[in-house]
Amino acid sequence: MFIDISNLKKSYTSGVVITEVLKGIEMKIDKGEIGVILGPSGSGKSTLMNIIGGIDRGDSGRVIVDGIEVNNLNDDKLTDYRREHIGVVFQFYNLVPNLTVGENIEVVSNISKSPLKNTDDVLAAVEMQDKKHRFPRELSGGEQQRVSLARAIVKNPKLLLCDEPTGALDYQTSRSILRLLELVNKKFGTTILMITHNAAIAAMANRVFKLRSGQIVEDVVNQGIVPAE
Ligand code: ADP
Ligand code: ADP
Repeated sequence: MFIDISNLKKSYTSGVVITEVLKGIEMKIDKGEIGVILGPSGSGKSTLMNIIGGIDRGDSGRVIVDGIEVNNLNDDKLTDYRREHIGVVFQFYNLVPNLTVGENIEVVSNISKSPLKNTDDVLAAVEMQDKKHRFPRELSGGEQQRVSLARAIVKNPKLLLCDEPTGALDYQTSRSILRLLELVNKKFGTTILMITHNAAIAAMANRVFKLRSGQIVEDVVNQGIVPAE
Protein backbone atom coordinates (compact mmCIF):
# COMPACT_ATOMS: atom_id res chain seq x y z
CA MET A 1 0.00 0.00 0.00
CA PHE A 2 1.56 3.30 -1.09
CA ILE A 3 -0.90 5.69 0.55
CA ASP A 4 -2.67 4.35 3.60
CA ILE A 5 -4.93 6.77 5.46
CA SER A 6 -7.19 5.76 8.27
CA ASN A 7 -9.57 7.73 10.45
CA LEU A 8 -7.97 11.06 9.51
CA LYS A 9 -9.65 14.00 11.19
CA LYS A 10 -9.02 17.71 10.88
CA SER A 11 -10.83 20.74 12.29
CA TYR A 12 -10.27 24.44 11.95
CA THR A 13 -11.09 26.81 14.79
CA SER A 14 -11.95 30.44 14.25
CA GLY A 15 -13.06 32.23 17.40
CA VAL A 16 -15.50 29.91 19.12
CA VAL A 17 -16.55 28.20 15.90
CA ILE A 18 -14.99 24.80 15.24
CA THR A 19 -15.41 23.43 11.72
CA GLU A 20 -14.72 19.74 11.26
CA VAL A 21 -13.29 19.61 7.73
CA LEU A 22 -12.15 15.97 7.59
CA LYS A 23 -14.33 13.53 9.52
CA GLY A 24 -12.45 10.24 9.53
CA ILE A 25 -11.00 9.77 6.03
CA GLU A 26 -10.17 6.24 4.86
CA MET A 27 -8.10 6.09 1.67
CA LYS A 28 -5.81 3.45 0.24
CA ILE A 29 -3.86 3.80 -3.00
CA ASP A 30 -1.38 1.32 -4.44
CA LYS A 31 1.97 2.30 -5.88
CA GLY A 32 1.67 3.43 -9.50
CA GLU A 33 -2.03 4.22 -9.39
CA ILE A 34 -3.65 7.43 -10.65
CA GLY A 35 -6.20 8.59 -8.10
CA VAL A 36 -8.62 11.47 -8.30
CA ILE A 37 -10.31 13.27 -5.42
CA LEU A 38 -13.65 14.54 -6.68
CA GLY A 39 -15.96 16.71 -4.65
CA PRO A 40 -17.75 20.03 -4.42
CA SER A 41 -16.09 23.21 -3.23
CA GLY A 42 -15.53 23.17 0.54
CA SER A 43 -15.72 19.37 0.85
CA GLY A 44 -12.12 19.16 2.14
CA LYS A 45 -10.19 18.19 -1.01
CA SER A 46 -7.36 20.72 -0.57
CA THR A 47 -7.10 20.05 3.16
CA LEU A 48 -6.74 16.31 2.50
CA MET A 49 -4.16 16.86 -0.23
CA ASN A 50 -2.21 19.35 1.90
CA ILE A 51 -1.95 16.78 4.70
CA ILE A 52 -0.80 14.07 2.29
CA GLY A 53 1.75 16.51 0.82
CA GLY A 54 3.07 17.52 4.23
CA ILE A 55 2.09 21.19 4.14
CA ASP A 56 -0.62 20.77 6.76
CA ARG A 57 -1.16 18.32 9.62
CA GLY A 58 -4.11 16.19 10.60
CA ASP A 59 -5.45 16.35 14.18
CA SER A 60 -5.72 12.59 14.56
CA GLY A 61 -5.65 9.38 12.57
CA ARG A 62 -2.92 7.75 10.50
CA VAL A 63 -1.37 9.00 7.25
CA ILE A 64 1.25 6.68 5.78
CA VAL A 65 2.92 7.50 2.45
CA ASP A 66 5.48 5.03 1.14
CA GLY A 67 6.03 3.67 4.64
CA ILE A 68 6.47 7.13 6.20
CA GLU A 69 4.08 8.11 8.98
CA VAL A 70 3.62 11.69 7.78
CA ASN A 71 1.55 12.92 10.72
CA ASN A 72 4.31 12.00 13.21
CA LEU A 73 7.20 13.84 11.52
CA ASN A 74 8.71 16.90 13.20
CA ASP A 75 8.92 20.12 11.14
CA ASP A 76 12.42 19.44 9.76
CA LYS A 77 11.57 15.88 8.78
CA LEU A 78 8.34 17.10 7.21
CA THR A 79 10.31 19.56 5.06
CA ASP A 80 12.64 16.74 3.94
CA TYR A 81 9.62 14.59 3.16
CA ARG A 82 8.14 17.31 0.92
CA ARG A 83 11.43 17.95 -0.85
CA GLU A 84 12.34 14.35 -1.45
CA HIS A 85 9.05 12.63 -2.11
CA ILE A 86 6.45 15.10 -3.34
CA GLY A 87 5.97 16.92 -6.65
CA VAL A 88 3.13 19.40 -7.07
CA VAL A 89 1.23 20.89 -9.98
CA PHE A 90 -1.19 23.79 -9.42
CA GLN A 91 -4.14 25.13 -11.36
CA PHE A 92 -2.36 28.37 -12.30
CA TYR A 93 1.05 26.84 -13.11
CA ASN A 94 3.02 29.01 -10.60
CA LEU A 95 6.03 29.38 -12.92
CA VAL A 96 8.56 32.08 -12.06
CA PRO A 97 7.79 34.80 -14.67
CA ASN A 98 11.29 36.25 -15.08
CA LEU A 99 12.96 32.87 -15.57
CA THR A 100 12.97 30.94 -18.85
CA VAL A 101 11.32 27.52 -19.12
CA GLY A 102 14.73 25.83 -18.70
CA GLU A 103 15.62 27.98 -15.70
CA ASN A 104 12.26 27.31 -14.02
CA ILE A 105 13.14 23.62 -14.08
CA GLU A 106 16.78 24.07 -13.07
CA VAL A 107 15.74 25.96 -9.92
CA VAL A 108 14.14 22.74 -8.73
CA SER A 109 16.69 20.21 -10.05
CA ASN A 110 19.60 22.19 -8.52
CA ILE A 111 18.22 21.94 -4.96
CA SER A 112 17.00 18.38 -5.29
CA LYS A 113 18.96 15.56 -3.69
CA SER A 114 18.27 13.05 -6.42
CA PRO A 115 17.41 14.77 -9.71
CA LEU A 116 17.37 11.56 -11.68
CA LYS A 117 16.34 13.40 -14.81
CA ASN A 118 17.86 16.46 -16.42
CA THR A 119 16.09 19.50 -17.83
CA ASP A 120 16.25 18.31 -21.45
CA ASP A 121 14.81 14.89 -20.56
CA VAL A 122 11.82 16.27 -18.69
CA LEU A 123 11.12 18.90 -21.35
CA ALA A 124 11.19 16.14 -23.97
CA ALA A 125 8.84 14.05 -21.84
CA VAL A 126 6.23 16.85 -21.96
CA GLU A 127 7.04 17.70 -25.60
CA MET A 128 8.36 21.19 -24.77
CA GLN A 129 12.04 20.84 -25.68
CA ASP A 130 11.83 23.57 -28.34
CA LYS A 131 10.53 26.11 -25.77
CA LYS A 132 13.45 25.83 -23.34
CA HIS A 133 14.56 29.45 -23.82
CA ARG A 134 11.09 31.00 -23.83
CA PHE A 135 9.54 32.85 -20.91
CA PRO A 136 6.25 31.68 -19.34
CA ARG A 137 4.31 34.68 -20.75
CA GLU A 138 5.19 33.53 -24.27
CA LEU A 139 3.43 30.21 -23.74
CA SER A 140 -0.21 29.21 -23.90
CA GLY A 141 -1.91 27.94 -20.73
CA GLY A 142 -1.55 24.33 -21.81
CA GLU A 143 2.13 24.85 -22.54
CA GLN A 144 2.70 26.48 -19.15
CA GLN A 145 1.04 23.51 -17.49
CA ARG A 146 3.37 21.16 -19.41
CA VAL A 147 6.37 23.09 -18.08
CA SER A 148 4.93 23.02 -14.58
CA LEU A 149 4.56 19.24 -14.93
CA ALA A 150 8.18 18.96 -16.12
CA ARG A 151 9.26 20.99 -13.10
CA ALA A 152 7.30 18.71 -10.77
CA ILE A 153 8.84 15.51 -12.14
CA VAL A 154 12.48 16.61 -12.54
CA LYS A 155 13.23 15.70 -8.91
CA ASN A 156 11.77 12.26 -9.49
CA PRO A 157 9.06 12.43 -6.81
CA LYS A 158 7.41 9.24 -5.64
CA LEU A 159 4.10 11.02 -5.41
CA LEU A 160 2.80 13.70 -7.76
CA LEU A 161 0.01 15.85 -6.32
CA CYS A 162 -2.04 17.91 -8.78
CA ASP A 163 -4.53 20.50 -7.52
CA GLU A 164 -7.05 21.21 -10.31
CA PRO A 165 -4.32 20.82 -12.96
CA THR A 166 -6.79 21.32 -15.80
CA GLY A 167 -9.04 23.83 -14.02
CA ALA A 168 -7.94 26.74 -16.21
CA LEU A 169 -7.75 24.83 -19.49
CA ASP A 170 -10.22 23.98 -22.25
CA TYR A 171 -11.38 20.39 -22.70
CA GLN A 172 -8.93 19.33 -25.45
CA THR A 173 -5.94 20.89 -23.68
CA SER A 174 -7.09 19.22 -20.46
CA ARG A 175 -7.12 15.87 -22.24
CA SER A 176 -3.57 16.38 -23.47
CA ILE A 177 -2.38 17.26 -19.94
CA LEU A 178 -4.12 14.15 -18.61
CA ARG A 179 -2.48 12.07 -21.33
CA LEU A 180 0.91 13.45 -20.22
CA LEU A 181 0.14 12.62 -16.60
CA GLU A 182 -0.60 9.07 -17.66
CA LEU A 183 2.64 8.97 -19.64
CA VAL A 184 4.63 10.15 -16.59
CA ASN A 185 2.82 7.55 -14.49
CA LYS A 186 3.71 4.76 -16.95
CA LYS A 187 7.24 5.85 -17.80
CA PHE A 188 8.50 6.74 -14.32
CA GLY A 189 6.11 4.71 -12.15
CA THR A 190 5.00 7.88 -10.34
CA THR A 191 1.89 7.56 -8.22
CA ILE A 192 -0.45 10.46 -8.99
CA LEU A 193 -3.18 12.02 -6.89
CA MET A 194 -5.24 14.74 -8.50
CA ILE A 195 -7.97 17.07 -7.24
CA THR A 196 -10.84 18.03 -9.50
CA HIS A 197 -14.45 19.11 -9.23
CA ASN A 198 -14.99 18.13 -12.87
CA ALA A 199 -16.73 14.75 -13.19
CA ALA A 200 -15.68 14.39 -16.86
CA ILE A 201 -12.01 14.69 -15.88
CA ALA A 202 -12.49 12.28 -12.98
CA ALA A 203 -13.98 9.70 -15.33
CA MET A 204 -10.59 9.52 -17.04
CA ALA A 205 -8.68 8.41 -13.93
CA ASN A 206 -8.43 4.83 -12.70
CA ARG A 207 -9.36 5.53 -9.06
CA VAL A 208 -11.93 8.09 -8.00
CA PHE A 209 -12.58 9.07 -4.38
CA LYS A 210 -15.74 11.08 -3.96
CA LEU A 211 -15.57 13.48 -1.06
CA ARG A 212 -18.66 15.04 0.55
CA SER A 213 -18.45 17.21 3.69
CA GLY A 214 -15.19 15.69 4.88
CA GLN A 215 -16.00 12.05 4.21
CA ILE A 216 -15.22 9.66 1.36
CA VAL A 217 -18.67 8.60 0.20
CA GLU A 218 -17.58 6.54 -2.79
CA ASP A 219 -14.39 4.84 -4.01
CA VAL A 220 -14.71 3.99 -7.71
CA VAL A 221 -12.39 1.95 -9.94
CA ASN A 222 -12.34 3.02 -13.61
CA GLN A 223 -10.53 1.64 -16.67
CA GLY A 224 -8.11 4.55 -16.87
CA ILE A 225 -7.47 7.75 -18.74
CA VAL A 226 -8.83 7.90 -22.26
CA PRO A 227 -6.02 9.05 -24.56
CA ALA A 228 -6.55 12.39 -26.35
CA GLU A 229 -6.70 12.14 -30.12
P1 ADP B 1 -12.08 22.09 -1.09
O1 ADP B 1 -10.64 21.96 -1.50
O2 ADP B 1 -12.86 20.84 -1.28
O3 ADP B 1 -12.76 23.27 -1.69
P2 ADP B 1 -10.97 22.86 1.47
O4 ADP B 1 -10.20 21.73 1.99
O5 ADP B 1 -10.23 23.98 0.83
O6 ADP B 1 -12.11 22.31 0.49
O7 ADP B 1 -11.85 23.50 2.63
C1 ADP B 1 -12.76 22.74 3.40
C2 ADP B 1 -13.33 23.61 4.50
O8 ADP B 1 -12.31 24.00 5.39
C3 ADP B 1 -13.93 24.90 3.98
O9 ADP B 1 -15.13 25.11 4.71
C4 ADP B 1 -12.91 25.93 4.29
O10 ADP B 1 -13.50 27.18 4.51
C5 ADP B 1 -12.27 25.40 5.54
N1 ADP B 1 -10.85 25.77 5.65
C6 ADP B 1 -9.87 25.41 4.81
N2 ADP B 1 -8.68 25.91 5.21
C7 ADP B 1 -8.92 26.62 6.34
C8 ADP B 1 -8.10 27.37 7.24
N3 ADP B 1 -6.79 27.49 7.07
N4 ADP B 1 -8.71 27.95 8.28
C9 ADP B 1 -10.04 27.83 8.49
N5 ADP B 1 -10.86 27.13 7.69
C10 ADP B 1 -10.32 26.53 6.62
P1 ADP C 1 -3.43 27.75 -27.48
O1 ADP C 1 -4.00 27.38 -28.82
O2 ADP C 1 -2.93 26.56 -26.72
O3 ADP C 1 -4.30 28.65 -26.66
P2 ADP C 1 -1.94 30.10 -28.17
O4 ADP C 1 -2.78 30.44 -29.34
O5 ADP C 1 -1.98 30.93 -26.95
O6 ADP C 1 -2.10 28.55 -27.79
O7 ADP C 1 -0.43 30.05 -28.64
C1 ADP C 1 -0.02 29.34 -29.80
C2 ADP C 1 1.48 29.38 -29.91
O8 ADP C 1 1.94 30.73 -29.93
C3 ADP C 1 2.16 28.70 -28.76
O9 ADP C 1 3.10 27.78 -29.28
C4 ADP C 1 2.88 29.79 -27.98
O10 ADP C 1 4.16 29.34 -27.61
C5 ADP C 1 2.98 30.92 -28.98
N1 ADP C 1 2.78 32.19 -28.27
C6 ADP C 1 1.65 32.58 -27.62
N2 ADP C 1 1.79 33.80 -27.09
C7 ADP C 1 3.04 34.22 -27.41
C8 ADP C 1 3.81 35.40 -27.14
N3 ADP C 1 3.33 36.42 -26.43
N4 ADP C 1 5.06 35.47 -27.64
C9 ADP C 1 5.57 34.44 -28.33
N5 ADP C 1 4.92 33.29 -28.62
C10 ADP C 1 3.67 33.18 -28.17
